[in-house]
Amino acid sequence: LDNHQEKRKIVIAGAGLVGSLCACIMGKKGHHVALYESRPDPRSEREQALAHGRSINLALSARGRAALARAGLEDVVISQAISMRGRMIHSPDGSKKAILYDPNTEQCIYSVSRQFLNEILISEAEKNPNVSVHFSHKLVDSRMDKGKLTFRKTDGNSAPTEVVVESELIIGADGAHSALRQAMLKQPMSNFSQTYIDHAYMELKIPAKKNGQHAMDTHYLHIWPRNEFMLIALPNLDGSFTVTLFMPIPIFGELQTADDVETFFTREFPDAMGLIGKEYLIKDFLSSRPSHLISVKCNPLNAGKGVLVGDAAHAMVPFYGQGMNAGFEDILILDNILDMYKNEPVEKALTRFSQSRVPNAHAICELALYNYVEMRCLVNQSAFILRRFLDYRLHKLFGKKWTPLYNNVTFSLTPYAECIQHKKWQDQVMKKVKYTSWIAVSLVTLGGLVVWRDFVHSRVHDA
Ligand code: FAD
Repeated sequence: LDNHQEKRKIVIAGAGLVGSLCACIMGKKGHHVALYESRPDPRSEREQALAHGRSINLALSARGRAALARAGLEDVVISQAISMRGRMIHSPDGSKKAILYDPNTEQCIYSVSRQFLNEILISEAEKNPNVSVHFSHKLVDSRMDKGKLTFRKTDGNSAPTEVVVESELIIGADGAHSALRQAMLKQPMSNFSQTYIDHAYMELKIPAKKNGQHAMDTHYLHIWPRNEFMLIALPNLDGSFTVTLFMPIPIFGELQTADDVETFFTREFPDAMGLIGKEYLIKDFLSSRPSHLISVKCNPLNAGKGVLVGDAAHAMVPFYGQGMNAGFEDILILDNILDMYKNEPVEKALTRFSQSRVPNAHAICELALYNYVEMRCLVNQSAFILRRFLDYRLHKLFGKKWTPLYNNVTFSLTPYAECIQHKKWQDQVMKKVKYTSWIAVSLVTLGGLVVWRDFVHSRVHDA
């Protein structure tokens, strides 16, 4: 620890994945951190039971791993995660095809339980004497200029009380519907957009086999792409798979009865229905409601002493598996910038953070929308498969000079906006190569025709 580094008094709103990681990293740096969370402790038995329905697992990749490493938690998290080396595509006829994420070096992403990750992050933060954690404290009011926050404390037994705290730095990690962001938007020049997509999702489950093993190949992210919609499945440590159905909202609306659900799954996902079990599928489907998917953009990410991180700053649709990873990366970057500006007013550091993060946050929101089309539709198309093949050949040949988009986003720390620029450049090169090849092929064909015509002519003359 650098003894000369300024130690700040930091308040974090939201002890989800990003807020609790932030408390670990800031606490480790010697800052005085108070972490406030609106819900009760997720490690309590009651909360675990409640969390069951939303216990989705997540795909962890390079950016998330780098941030966990800074908190000293990468190895323990990876030891409780399942590697996924590629996509396993399930066709309607029941056949399967594996597409490795990185055919050259076989890099993997990791399926990890959200509940486990949140618990380990909170426990790690709490171990640090610089960090205090306060559950059942909901942020209800904030004054970013003064660094003043008001929380409503509820303990279930007595009437709620108000708790006012002051801080040199306020970090809003309070999720997609952030209360801190609401307060920030009252400031002039605060820009914000939110878009709900026309598709929603529902979680289902493929149970473990009787012997506790996975019912499908363990080390893959399974996809049933059906153009307009898709089913995906990520492995869990207990032998089950968490299955997520992404589909246009009106189609969910059409599936009202057991017959509707059975007919739909028999037509679209017969093999998955067999693995889930028809009775469980129908019961789960009819007792759940689809959840909506939102994409949020914000600019700037700071006001006064306050800054937004994670979903509060850039909620995105989940199709690139980058929401948490991008949120974790926010903390790495914020930490770096606070170090760089340690002798300056915090407002200056936050402006720098916002300037560097906004273009990349917007870029990953766009990429996440694009990847839905790739996952549910493009993976079925031969042009996409050919381009992917070429990309990985060129990557092998030219290394970092030609990194496929997925690898850049998932296995590197290249800023997201640069990943898009690199892909655009590759597309231009491909276009030129395509035109040049067309011209070359046309010239050769034309030349061939001329030679053939002359040959036929000479034969006629000879005759
Ligand atoms: P959250 O996890 O939402 O946490 C916010 C916390 O703030 C919560 O604990 C909440 O209770 C608390 N809070 C809210 N309001 C207040 C308040 N007023 N006062 C105090 N506390 C408050 N990302 C990936 O990287 N990989 C994946 O594979 C992936 N898969 C996904 C699949 C699905 C179906 C979905 C929906 C998302 C997925 N994501 C994935 C995205 C990921 O879940 C989010 O990006 C991540 O949870 C964001 O973390 P966060 O801490 O910013 O927000």
